[in-house]
Amino acid sequence: MEQETRRPLLIVGSVAFDSVETPQGRADMALGGSASYAAIAASYFSQPQVVGIVGDDFHGHHMSKFHDHGVDVRGIESVAGKTFHWKGRYRENFKDRDTLETALNVFQHFNPTIPAAYRDTKYVLLGNIDPKLQLSVLNQAKGTDIVAMDTMNFWIDTAREALREVLKRVDILFINDEEAMQLADEWTVLGAAESIRRMGPKYVIIKRGEHGAVLFGPELTLFVPAVLLTSVVDPTGAGDTFAGGFFGHLSRGGGLERENLAQALTWGTVMASFAVEAFSVDGICRLSPRVIAERRGSLIDMIRYE
Ligand code: AMP
Repeated sequence: MEQETRRPLLIVGSVAFDSVETPQGRADMALGGSASYAAIAASYFSQPQVVGIVGDDFHGHHMSKFHDHGVDVRGIESVAGKTFHWKGRYRENFKDRDTLETALNVFQHFNPTIPAAYRDTKYVLLGNIDPKLQLSVLNQAKGTDIVAMDTMNFWIDTAREALREVLKRVDILFINDEEAMQLADEWTVLGAAESIRRMGPKYVIIKRGEHGAVLFGPELTLFVPAVLLTSVVDPTGAGDTFAGGFFGHLSRGGGLERENLAQALTWGTVMASFAVEAFSVDGICRLSPRVIAERRGSLIDMIRYE
């Protein structure tokens, strides 16, 4: 996790204000969005470059969370209007959540432009965002090595066709179990993964919350359990953080070999465990490589049998 060897990783996604209520309390208009979580998580491994959009209500102190982590924000456009706002409430079990509001705001007319300096970036993470925007970014990127994407029920419900187009062009899909079954119209995780792999992505990573994550690839299945925690405060962004940690590790090089993918799974899992311990991005801000590596060490100890 040496900072000086950080390689560029292009991330497109939402930069948002989230209003979240969980059994542990609430946060109003706090920094969120798929790109925010993914970029801050990835910053411990690589040099994230973010493409996104914010409104004029997004101030310097919000942007400073990116600056503090060395995230390149030249691709974040700032326009008149309101920043994307998402409002959700979690039930007692922390797993079920109700989306109370998705206000796209400035996203409605967003036409992402990748700054010239980012166009050759080899690793591209299409964070959870309108699949049409994911496609537009993909069309501008040149000579990518690995493209990964994330999505959620909102887009499966409202933009399935565009989503199928993006799926044809990505190497890796991150998706949670319920959404995988919804997308594939299957009733088991394995059935869903196989069906989705036929839609395009060679690797499908199914996130199962506190039950860990499973990676399905060509003649390859890998499972990593979640880190066991005594306190969960806010699960928002766990998936995006997982993607940031996983793909941040992959962008260091090492390819798609089993060993490297298994390592990426553990980094993603560990980063996600920090995210759920606090509201907004607070759990993943100002971590040190040592703290992250220690938690990963405990995870590895727990799953090493020989
Ligand atoms: P996760 O908990 O991993 O599903 O991610 C939640 C984050 O995704 C929140 O910070 C939201 O701001 C963001 N988000 C929620 N709905 C959408 C959407 N339709 N498009 C893009 N980002 C979203």
